[in-house]
Amino acid sequence: MNIRTATDSTQSLNGTADILRFKARTDAVCAVALAHAADVDTSARFPAEAMAMLKEQHLMGIFVPAELGGEGATMSEAAEICYALGRACGSAGMIYAMHLVKVACIVNHGLGIQWQEDVLRRLHTEQLLFASSTTEGMGGGNVRSSAAAIVADGSRITLDRDASVISYGAYADGLVTTARRAGGSDSSDQVLVVFMKEDYVMELTGGWDTLGMRGTCSTGFRLKASGLPEQVLPVPYDRIHAQTMTPAAHLLWSSVWAGIAAAAVQKAELFVRKAMRGSNGQTPPAAPRLGEAKSKLRQLRGLLEVSINRYEAAHDDQRAWSSLDYQTALAMTKVDASELAVDAVMASYRACGLAGYRNDGEVSIGRHLRDILSSPIMINNDRITASMAGAVLMSGVPQTIRT
Ligand SMILES: Cc1cc2nc3c(=O)[nH]c(=O)nc-3n(C[C@H](O)[C@H](O)[C@H](O)COP(=O)(O)OP(=O)(O)OC[C@H]3O[C@@H](n4cnc5c(N)ncnc54)[C@H](O)[C@@H]3O)c2cc1C
Repeated sequence: MNIRTATDSTQSLNGTADILRFKARTDAVCAVALAHAADVDTSARFPAEAMAMLKEQHLMGIFVPAELGGEGATMSEAAEICYALGRACGSAGMIYAMHLVKVACIVNHGLGIQWQEDVLRRLHTEQLLFASSTTEGMGGGNVRSSAAAIVADGSRITLDRDASVISYGAYADGLVTTARRAGGSDSSDQVLVVFMKEDYVMELTGGWDTLGMRGTCSTGFRLKASGLPEQVLPVPYDRIHAQTMTPAAHLLWSSVWAGIAAAAVQKAELFVRKAMRGSNGQTPPAAPRLGEAKSKLRQLRGLLEVSINRYEAAHDDQRAWSSLDYQTALAMTKVDASELAVDAVMASYRACGLAGYRNDGEVSIGRHLRDILSSPIMINNDRITASMAGAVLMSGVPQTIRT
């Protein structure tokens, strides 16, 4: 797998990004991920080979700053790796993206706390995998509300949570979870807590037999954890949510979805090229659908490039990242990216026709289509747009094209 070549517009997410630093290592992981992607999907199993390769290539701690022994990767570098992995195996790409979102939260909000810095050092040297727990009980995608609270227990803290979805929870070395600050706190008065595997026990409460993203193994658990007070990040969750969690999740998830779309478009291109060879160079009837698929993918990559640049320009500047404009743009990036990704995969599927519908050919679109259908519901787009309604009402209509 190549991240970028001059001839294939599906190869790179951001033609101008510095992707060379991680290219060789990413290629090695993608080759393994691609070789096992079909079996991961069919068997709904954890992509163990790709995840082992990510560790072998030392890609788990890329966000860890150089002063803690890591590589201090930028968001655009991380997005490129997610895009490449998404092209090879949607589940492996999404697992890696979710892990990086958690690491970004610890890096941005845990520095200066010995316990958190030790975890980052460990993450880099031991190549640990972090899972995420935000979904709780029947609460769906309302990340800004928690039921279970942190309970002070002598010199320790405990948490007992109905974690109804934790991707790869059974395979992670630690997890990062939202929680109510304390027993008497409001449901929106939340904190983010880091627990290592030795800090918790998990009892399986639900399975994961889904249409797509089958390898994420996003089962439900009753989580019982105990740790030190320093394991709670000191910054209130509402700030972490706005400054890091939402932007990082939306950018990295969307990069995986763009990668899935690129894989489908590449198959549609293969199909149309073959049809062209069989019709003495005449434009095959499927060509317009390929054009549509490529156009959607181009729009998606363009949206991500703009949003990643925006994040990198704003994330250290409180006035910039807390502005209504920025928050709306980053929230809507997920909504728009997921819709464009679904459109690109669907147009690729229409281009390939029956050959795309089949599960057994070289241009089968089934896995990509099933995987990409998770994107509008992974924090439902309707929920996000509804939560943006107030902000949208307050903002005016721009008077010019460029802001
Ligand atoms: C592949 C995948 C991996 C995941 N991994 C994890 C993980 O590791 N950890 C984790 O914690 N969670 C994870 N999740 C869960 C995810 O974070 C969301 O909680 C979940 O997608 C929301 O599920 P829901 O549709 O049941 O809930 P809801 O968000 O409740 O949505 C149900 C329906 O209600 C509608 N709705 C709800 N509220 C509103 C509103 N205010 N306005 C308009 N419509 C509304 C929605 O549009 C939708 O139609 C994962 C999800 C997926 C798909």
